[in-house]
Order: sequence, then C-alpha cells, then structure tokens
Amino acid sequence: MDDLVERLPKEAAMLREIAQSYLLGIEWQANLSASAAMIDLSAARIQALETSLAEAMATRVDKARAWDACIEARNDERAKVIAEVVAWLRTENGQCDCFARSEGECACGAWDDHKTKPLLEIATALETGEWKK
Ligand SMILES: [Zn+2]
Repeated sequence: MDDLVERLPKEAAMLREIAQSYLLGIEWQANLSASAAMIDLSAARIQALETSLAEAMATRVDKARAWDACIEARNDERAKVIAEVVAWLRTENGQCDCFARSEGECACGAWDDHKTKPLLEIATALETGEWKK
C-alpha cells in the first residue's frame, strides 16, 4: 500500500508529461497544417503570376508581330510609291514638251529619250503631287 501511495503521484506526473507531449503534438500538427496551407497559397500565387507573365509575354509577342507587319506594310507602300515615281519619270522622259512632229523639231530631247527637263521642275512636280495626275 505504501508502495502504491509512492507510485501513484509518479505515475500521475508521467501521465501529465504524456498529456503535455500529446498536446504539444497537436499544436505541432496544427502548425504543420498552417504551414502546408501557406505553401499551397504560395504555390497558387506563383501559378497565377506565371499565368499572368505568360499572358503578358504573349501580348508582347503579338504587339511585336503587329509592329513588324506595320513596318512591312509601310515599306511595301514606299516601294510602290518609288515604283510609281520611276514609271512617271520614264513616261515623262518620252513626252515631248515642245509639240514637235519629228525628232528634228524636238528641242526638249523627248524624241530621242534624253529629255532635258530641269531637275527643279521635276522636284516641284514630285513635291506638289503633279506627277500623280
Ligand atoms: Zn520636244
């Protein structure tokens, strides 16, 4: 009986320690669960950022392609205008300005494809758009 009286408080203390450990374990599990939830949240945020970044990159690529297409269209337009000016110059070179009826009468040079029209007049025709008429 004495033995039991001595032993019971020791066993009670041991049980308290076990209970304390158990409670600490529960707390530890709760902390781990909270950490896991934070990690899940971070992963979701990272995924959202990656999606957003991919969308932004796709938008940039689309804009770059649109810009390239715009530059190409403008270059095509310039090449077309240059071709039109060259065609006009060739036609103009063959048009007699002095109303000659033969090569011998022509003083402007159009009849022999060496028209002597002043460059200043050509520049003015280009500048005013007269060449398009
Ligand atoms: Zn002429």
